[in-house]
Amino acid sequence: MSPARLSDVGIASCRSCGRVVATLRAELSFTPGVEPAVHWYESERQCRCRATRLPRPAALPASVKVRLGDLRAAAAAARPWEELTGRPPLRLVV
Ligand SMILES: [Zn+2]
Repeated sequence: MSPARLSDVGIASCRSCGRVVATLRAELSFTPGVEPAVHWYESERQCRCRATRLPRPAALPASVKVRLGDLRAAAAAARPWEELTGRPPLRLVV
């Protein structure tokens, strides 16, 4: 069992071939005040371009940071879980 809740924040597609590269997933702790952890998951990768790299979480666009801020606020306020997971993932090009 995971001690955190997961929310898909974004889906990255390749700038060259347009195929899916990875999903950006946020892990929200049940402990208040803990920053969401973000990780790339490449299990459904379709892009085979060697040059395509995923940005480090710290280098993600502002739209991702806004979404993470919303998730953090929703988690802190103990709002319904659907508010954290109900929004469609952001489309990112890498
Ligand atoms: Zn590609």
